[in-house]
Amino acid sequence: MEPRPDGRRQPQGSPGSAGSAGSVGDDNPWHTGAACRRDEVGLFFAPSKEPTAARLSREEQAKQVCARCPVLLECREHALAQPEPYGVWGGLTAAERRVVLARRRRRDTELREAARVAAAGRRIAG
Ligand code: SF4
Repeated sequence: MEPRPDGRRQPQGSPGSAGSAGSVGDDNPWHTGAACRRDEVGLFFAPSKEPTAARLSREEQAKQVCARCPVLLECREHALAQPEPYGVWGGLTAAERRVVLARRRRRDTELREAARVAAAGRRIAG
């Protein structure tokens, strides 16, 4: 973990900390190609009590950095898998990641139910 500009903590390799990515001992090589830089960390994480208009503008700027990032998909999947609760990762805000995760959970539930129905159908037919 390393301190964020606002004094809170952020995970090593988080957006804006890519300048340290790929250093010796780093076990997350996906972010060695990150487009975000250490001096951009303020774009990716909200300061406390950020007004909505400022947040939307900041998030849009962060997403523009992500849009040209060669490791966008790896970053996004990392943030979804953790899951990372704060900041813009892989071009998605925390709220957008929660929507993606909810959709995935719903899809997984539907797939399990479809498999259960198919298995029951096979038992009846067999
Ligand atoms: S996708 Fe965005 S947050 Fe992730 S490494 Fe690239 S620029 Fe940084």
